[in-house]
This record gives sequence, C-alpha cells and structure tokens, in this order.
Amino acid sequence: MNPEMILKQYFGYDDFRKGQRELIDCILEGKDVLGIMPTGAGKSICYQVPALMFSGITIVISPLISLMKDQVYSLSQAGIPAAYINSSLSDMEIYKTFEYARQGSYKILYIAPERLDTSLFLDFIAYADISLVAVDEAHCVSQWGQDFRPSYLNIAAFVTQLQKRPVLCAFTATATSEVKDDILCILGLNCPKLFITGFDRKNLYFAVKHVKKKKEEILHYIKEHRNQCGIVYCSTRNNVDEVYELLCQNGIGAARYHAGMSKEERTESQEEFIYDIKMVMVATNAFGMGIDKSNVRYVLHYNMPQSMENYYQEAGRAGRDGENSECILFYEPRDVHINKFLIENKESKKELTKEEEEAIRERDYKRLREMTFYCTTKECLRNFILKYFGERTGADCGNCSNCLMDYKKTDVTELSRKILNCVYELKQHFGINIVIGVLRGSKAARILENGFDRYRTYGTLAEYAESSLRQIIDVLLQEKMLIQTDDSYPVLRLGTDYLKLKEETNRIYIKNEIRRTKEVAKEISEKKSVLTSKGYTLFEKLRLLRIEIAKEENIPPYIVFSDKTLNDMCIKLPFTPEEMLAVTGVGQNKKEKYGERFSELILQVTGGDREGYSWTESNKVASNRVTISGTNTTKKKESSRSEKHEKEVQKEEFTFTKWMAERIQCEGNCTLSEFVGKLNQQINEKQMKRLTIVSVEKKLEEEGYIYCEHQLHTAIVVKEKGKKKGFFVIQRISQQGNPYDVLMMNERAQRWLLEKVAKE
Ligand code: ADP
Ligand code: ZN
Repeated sequence: MNPEMILKQYFGYDDFRKGQRELIDCILEGKDVLGIMPTGAGKSICYQVPALMFSGITIVISPLISLMKDQVYSLSQAGIPAAYINSSLSDMEIYKTFEYARQGSYKILYIAPERLDTSLFLDFIAYADISLVAVDEAHCVSQWGQDFRPSYLNIAAFVTQLQKRPVLCAFTATATSEVKDDILCILGLNCPKLFITGFDRKNLYFAVKHVKKKKEEILHYIKEHRNQCGIVYCSTRNNVDEVYELLCQNGIGAARYHAGMSKEERTESQEEFIYDIKMVMVATNAFGMGIDKSNVRYVLHYNMPQSMENYYQEAGRAGRDGENSECILFYEPRDVHINKFLIENKESKKELTKEEEEAIRERDYKRLREMTFYCTTKECLRNFILKYFGERTGADCGNCSNCLMDYKKTDVTELSRKILNCVYELKQHFGINIVIGVLRGSKAARILENGFDRYRTYGTLAEYAESSLRQIIDVLLQEKMLIQTDDSYPVLRLGTDYLKLKEETNRIYIKNEIRRTKEVAKEISEKKSVLTSKGYTLFEKLRLLRIEIAKEENIPPYIVFSDKTLNDMCIKLPFTPEEMLAVTGVGQNKKEKYGERFSELILQVTGGDREGYSWTESNKVASNRVTISGTNTTKKKESSRSEKHEKEVQKEEFTFTKWMAERIQCEGNCTLSEFVGKLNQQINEKQMKRLTIVSVEKKLEEEGYIYCEHQLHTAIVVKEKGKKKGFFVIQRISQQGNPYDVLMMNERAQRWLLEKVAKE
C-alpha cells in the first residue's frame, strides 16, 4: 500500500496536508527529519503512516500521559494496534505490554521519556526490531522553553544503544531558533531534513474586543454558542470562580480548573469537559497542557495573557480538527497592571542569580508590551502574530476583527513630531504619563515642581484627550520611533527610526473604528451557518449519538468522530455504511464500527430527502465565500453542484419574457440574491433552469460593472460604471466570523437588470 492508500483506509482522509507527504517520503527513504508545524497541522499522521509501512515497530516518545492515551485510543479506533507505557500503568500492566510488544502485537508503542532507561525497556529493545523512533513535543529537550524535561536528554543515548539505528524523527510546534538549534544538537538527529510549515492557523478567527462589561459580553457569546465546546481563560483564580459562577447561574454547563482546586477536583473537571458533559471550561493557564480535544470551537480570554507566546498557545487550542473556530481576547487596560503585578511578584527561583532574575523580568516586561500592542493595534491581527513569530506576512487576512472593522484614518504626523519633541525636551528621562501631562499643560505637582511648565512643548497639545495622545504614542512605539525601557517604571526614549519623521513623505496615521465592535458582534450572531438550518438540526442529532457512543465505549466523543467529520456527514448525507467512506475522517475500521448507526440516523432524520438538506443557490454562494479551510467540503459542494447540473441538462435555458418582467416589482434596496430569487419565482422550475447568482455576477464582471475576487472569501468591488447603475456593496459576517461582501441594488439597478435579463 502506498501512503495515500493508508491515509484513506485507516484515517479516512483523501489528501495529505501541506508538508505531510514530503515529510513521510523522507522518513520512508530512511532519512532523519525535524518537523516544525503548528498545532493541528497533523504531525501525528507524519509518523503514523510510515509506522504502518515499516516492517518493525515504531517507538514514539511523548511527554504527556493524556496525549498518549488519546493517540492510542484514536489509533485503535482506526484499526491500528498500539499501546503506551507510562506511570499510569501498574508494573504488571507494563510487564504485559512489553510481553505483547515482543510478540509483535503492536505497530506503535508510545513511551514516556522517563521510562527509556528502565530495565524492562532495555530488555525489550535488546531484541526488538525498531524501524522508527519519533520524538513528539521535541522542544521539551530545550532548556529555553518552559516545558523542559530533563529525561529528554537521554533520548540520544537510547538511540545509539540500539543494534540497528532506526530512522529518527522529531516534531514540535515551537519555532524559535534557540529551541530549533537545541533540538538539532541534543537529540542526535543525523543530518536531518527540516520541514517548517507556516505558523498560520487559517481556520482560526482572531478578535480583540475592548469592552467595559466583559462578563456580560462573555455570557452573551457563550449563550449564542450553546452547543459548542469552548474555553474561557482568566488570569487569576478569583476571576475563574467569578466567571464560572456566572455561567452556572445562567444555566450553562461549565467546568472550572485552577491550581487552587484539589487534584481530584481538577481531574473531574477536565474529564467533564473532554467528554462533552460540560461544554465550557473556565480556567487559568494551568489548564490545557496535553489536552488534545479537537472540537474546541472557541477560546475566549477574559484577561489579557502575559505574552504572545502564551496567547498563541492557549488560543491555538481551538480548532485542532481544522474546522473554523474563534479566538477572542477581551481587553481592558487594567489587565496590563494586573500582569505587571504578577511579573513583579513572581516567585524567585533559587538557582538564579540576581542579574539573571533581573534579565528575566526585563524579558517579561518586553513580552507584556508586545502583548499589549496586539490588543491595541489596528493592523491585521493575524499578520501581527505571524510577524511576532518571525514569519513573513502577506496581504491582510480578512479573517480577524481588525480586517472586519471599518476605520477612519487620520494623519497625525504633526502631533507625532510634537510628542517626539517633548520626549527629547524631557531628556528621555520620563514615562508616558509625564510626557502626556506636559503636552496637555497639566498643573500636577510633579510637573510644576520640576519646572516643566517652562518647557517649549508644555501645553502645546492641550486640546487633545489623554486617550488620543496615548493612541498616537502606541503607534510611535510600534513604528519604533519611540521606545519604552524594559523595567517596572518604563521611560520613553527616542527610537531607532525617529529621524524618519523628518522626511515629509513619511506620515503617521491612527485609525479609529467607524462601526462599533458591538455591531459587528451582532452581525456575527445573526450570521448564516455553513450548514442549512435543517443540516444544523441533523448535526445536533449526530452529536448526541456521538456522545452516546463515547459513553458506551468510555472514550472522548471527538475520538469517535471529529466535528469536521460530523459536518461533512451533514453535507454528504450518507445513507449507507458504504457511502460513509466518502466522508472525511471515516476509514475502513470506523465505517465498520459506527457506519451503520450514523447512516441509519441520517436516513431516519432526513427521511431520505437529500434535496431538502442540500444548499439553496444563495447559501451555496455564501458558503463558498465563507469556507476558509476544508478543501474537501468545498470540493464536495462543487461536485454536488455539478451533479445537480447534470440533472438540469434536460431543462430549457433560463429565459425571461417582457410579460414576466412586468410582474416584478422593483422597490427599495435588495440584495442580488433576493432579486434573482424573485425572477426565479416567475419560471416553471421543472422545465426551465434557474437563473443563478453566480452567472449574473459573472456577467456583470465581464461587462465591467463589478469586480469579484474569488479567493478565500469573495470581495466584491463595484466599479464606477456599476455605481452609476445603482449597485453597491455591504459586508456581512458569517457564523465563523468571516466577512463576505453582498452585492446590493437600488431600485434603478433592479429596473436596469430586469430589462437586461428580459432582453437577453
Ligand atoms: P498536531 O499534532 O500537529 O497538533 P494532529 O496530529 O493532532 O495535529 O492532527 C490534527 C487533526 O488533523 C487530527 O484530527 C487529524 O486526524 C487531522 N488530520 C491530520 N492529517 C490530516 C489530513 N491529511 N486530512 C485531514 N485531516 C487530517
Ligand atoms: Zn486580518
């Protein structure tokens, strides 16, 4: 069998994702590899597929018990014999597992790094035929990260002990160059080939919300997403308890997790969440390590975390299955102070010298400042993240709250010059508050005592609000025209790029929101689903069946089937177990195990009516616009469209008579799809093909009225010619938070198009 066949038969997937196939080829050729791929990219498949192709056993070194369990459950579900060795097993169980492994019962054996030098393991490897060793979470070998595991240092020695050197591969999602170098040096990889796929998680929507009533907003959001799993991160135990109480009082099934709870309580909470018994987890950052739950649809941050590293790791727990998910940070300036307090009062580590401790604190402040920039920037959030992690960025993503917001741009170059002058006049010795105070002509004691009221810049920006000046200073910091020192009383200094402002052509802008976040939030909640409403009801029924099966088998629901798989079932509507095989994530084994129960339920709920559950013309168009990930789904939609098309071949082409046109009323503004719908009501659909929105859009584009960009989401631009006819565009937000443009027509445009259609 080749890798594609294995992927389909065992895992139920049609194609490899970016980077997977190349990496697998390398392993199959016997070369060592290091794969640096973001969470959810599908690292496990990269060693699991070769494991099935090699003759011997594959050893996977993994640091987390819960992850190992999950992986072994998943593999068993896929019909792949696997086991794990870690401290959760009794000595007897460990002994037996090795016994079975010796007999060749497993293709893959997971082991905790601490077990590598135990005598039982050494006995086992003395005779075992080991083809491949995979090191998961390879960054644990590096002392740079927070996840350092000393026992990872033994891996290289273990590999050299083996009689025959197996292929060695390592995987991590941590991409900093220090960590990468450590992995390369310490693990003993032999001239490894590096696979670094982008850091971007396209299925995640990023948003920052500046709101006063955070609790209400969060409650509202969670109510709107009742049937979805999500995590709310808070920075303190108190906040966790408060948010948790609030959710419980409002009838939402929530669990909580923080270091103040007993170990038993924490385990119970975690299980409730993993098994979909409680849909929401409210937690401090103590929660999440080793959580592989793939159907987390949103991660909300009630407080701003301390660094982008923390934020991206926590937010990244959303959408591991590749389905669209949301990461929303609720920002409040107070969070900066809370975090400063936390940094200042961090327990000191004994082994560090005073200087080292100071250096770490400085680094923490610097990270906190970057994190704050993320919360205040008006630029594309995804690009901000990618830039932070040192990746090249492209055009704005169109799938974050900043890209969705309309802004008014104001030139503040003159004001910026005055601010820089003031910093200079203050000899680069004072912090933001004094600079603003001087510029605004404050009479505060500290300013008068120092005689700053005699400075040239004193009071020169008296008419501006403090918040406006702060906003400009933020931009100047981001543009490196100003810098802020890295200590607890940060001072403003001129930055490396401040001279740029001397050139007339370099301008500084600030952006202010025109549409309030709330309005966008409202639109998000009014959004249309990727599934039809009937499809959504079906999804719910399938989800309940999944919970039932999970309970029967005592495994987490997402291991039965992922959300992505259930979604695909609602689109493809398999009525028989055989048809199930076309659904993404259903391999041979799962088909046999669950195919019948799921396909029966689908048949029963739909009554065999595929048409009734398929897409109407208008939401097909919308869905193509909002689908960001999941090429499979898009492909299917296209093919179902062409199937439909074939059926329609017999019908006559759409024609519209003058007589029909007279019965159409043109009044007010309407969307193009509403208008096309009106026209289609006039024809006999049994005999005649419907007019499609896509065809009208195409025609308008060909004739130069509009311009459509059919990329990730459709952006429509109305050209001058189209504007004259009365076309315009409004933006809507899909359920997943992705924007799509809707072409609108005023009365004039409707009459014009009607005439045009009737003529042609
Ligand atoms: P990582 O370890 O990189 O965070 P996982 O290995 O857990 O990611 O994979 C994330 C999800 O993506 C899993 O549900 C996995 O089954 C799925 N997946 C992996 N490869 C593919 C593929 N080629 N096509 C579809 N889904 C895939
Ligand atoms: Zn963006």
